[in-house]
Amino acid sequence: MAGFLVEPIQGEAGVYTPDDNYMRTSQELCKKYNALFIADEIQTGIARTGALLAVCGKCDCAAHCEKQAATYAQPDVLILGKALSGGAYPVSAVLANNEIMNVIKPGQHGSTFGGNPVAAVVGMAALDVVKDEKLAQNARELGNHFRSRINEYIETTDTVTLVRGRGLLNAIVINDTEEGDTAWNICLKLRDNGLLAKPTHGNIIRFAPPLVMTQDQLDECIDIIIKTLKSFE
Ligand SMILES: *Cc1c(COP(=O)(O)O)cnc(C)c1O
Repeated sequence: MAGFLVEPIQGEAGVYTPDDNYMRTSQELCKKYNALFIADEIQTGIARTGALLAVCGKCDCAAHCEKQAATYAQPDVLILGKALSGGAYPVSAVLANNEIMNVIKPGQHGSTFGGNPVAAVVGMAALDVVKDEKLAQNARELGNHFRSRINEYIETTDTVTLVRGRGLLNAIVINDTEEGDTAWNICLKLRDNGLLAKPTHGNIIRFAPPLVMTQDQLDECIDIIIKTLKSFE
């Protein structure tokens, strides 16, 4: 095996959140078999899951970092995109240490717009905002609030079977078959009620709101979500 490429939380597939020790164990297996451990953090990275990176749990809060350090991993190769520019400019990046990067010799790998200086400046500015505005912490706190309110609602209904996720990358699973159209119809109704969301896989609806949102704004969203779900009971 040359490498193991993984999303720390599968986004498009339906926000599948692995057990706490999954990343660490994967890294150990990769080390043992001399395979590269590659983390695709295009969706999970840059504060989305309540840490700067989901795979290593690094964030702006020392206590949280220490707690996470026991279970999280350090990838050999890290893939970033999307939020890396705060949505302001198309920026993506692959990061690795010299041992890996130097395998590619100058001139062997070309990219028309690679190394774009404007993109690099936008990426650095966006990272400053994430740090200055404590967006990882905000995502972590709002995510806990989101899941706790949705869980309270789940106690009272058969329409939703579970909510899962980390930070502000979450999904609810609708009580329907994967081929059913309830989740799609719920999303149409959510739209009518003023909130845009999209089913990822059949009966799963993903919620990945802006990291700059406030708790009041989130509560307004949760009210719309619960009101809409109630109309499908
Ligand atoms: C968007 C996305 C990609 C593709 O990124 P591009 O910059 O469009 O090549 C790859 N992996 C994940 C998890 C994504 O969300």
